[in-house]
Amino acid sequence: EQFYKDLPKVELHAHLNGSISSTTTEKLITKKPHLSDQHNMTVISRGQKRTLEECFEMFKIIHQLTVSDEDVFVVTKDVVKEFAADGVKYIELRSTPREEKSTGMTKKSYVSSVLEAIKQCKNEGVDIDVRFLLAIDRRNGPTIAMETVKLAEEFFRSSDGVVVGLDLSGNPAVGDGKNFIAPLQAGRNLGLKLALHLAEIPNQNEESEMLLSIPPDRIGHGTFLHPEVGGSQRLVDTVKKYRIPLELCFSSNVKSQTISSYDQHHFHYWYNLGHPCVVCTDDKGVFGTDLSLEYQITASTFNLSKTQIWDLSYQSINCIFAPESVKSDLKRRWNELKPGLF
Ligand code: 5GP
Repeated sequence: EQFYKDLPKVELHAHLNGSISSTTTEKLITKKPHLSDQHNMTVISRGQKRTLEECFEMFKIIHQLTVSDEDVFVVTKDVVKEFAADGVKYIELRSTPREEKSTGMTKKSYVSSVLEAIKQCKNEGVDIDVRFLLAIDRRNGPTIAMETVKLAEEFFRSSDGVVVGLDLSGNPAVGDGKNFIAPLQAGRNLGLKLALHLAEIPNQNEESEMLLSIPPDRIGHGTFLHPEVGGSQRLVDTVKKYRIPLELCFSSNVKSQTISSYDQHHFHYWYNLGHPCVVCTDDKGVFGTDLSLEYQITASTFNLSKTQIWDLSYQSINCIFAPESVKSDLKRRWNELKPGLF
């Protein structure tokens, strides 16, 4: 529906390689025809589901598409433009720096390519403010994580405010979150903000307690934090005490089956507490969605009025990692756009 497209939006949880559209995938495939058989498996269409484990297998296939600096550049540019076309005015993209010996891509050149694409979009006048988080894949362990923090530090100093923080992601069933406390704390001490995937699958209470001890600036998913789903009141109390915003992704959670149906989504629990909730896409390519659709799903599932949806989008501005001056500018922009919507 047009209202959701026109609604100015903030996107705070989008993995670069999970956000690649089918158009861009086709573009990349023409350069890598040997991958064409696999690529049609990397989108979960309407009504289809996978397990979360299967989703992580899909990322391995997708990563074969982005193996050079040029690929990363092309993908970033397209993804940014697609979010802008969907009415997103501010986005924090995240991505795991990767090296690829065969093309000479290094982790550093990977990040440079992302930042160069962001810069070009800006120069071209694309109407969206783009920031970037370097992602730590938990599968790679704490030593690599510390290297990522070092890399983030370099770019944090040189990127004119585009690099704002770190993300902890990757298969939650692999590794132990507490091994990442030290690198994350090091990042925090440098001034980087922290967005951590937390309690994405059941039975991670101990890990969640450890990670909340930092405590993070935002939480990805947080699906199993509350007592009704095996979490605990203590976890909820900690999240409430620090008022840590939750990044919530409806299509992702339902299609990867960590949530059984939209109406069972934990948005309900936290929204009713008046806790900051940010509607996000996670992986718009993989889950075949966009942010307007996610807002529409939120509205129809929980019977929210257009005013409530507006407020939800407006409140998300408070959860961004860019400085206060950017928040005020965005709020002004939102208020300018409001009369045209109602
Ligand atoms: P990239 O970091 O390569 O740009 O984006 C893909 C990566 O993001 C995946 O390999 C994975 O580490 C992370 N990712 C994407 N979606 C999810 C998700 O739903 N949960 C978790 N924990 N990680 C994810």
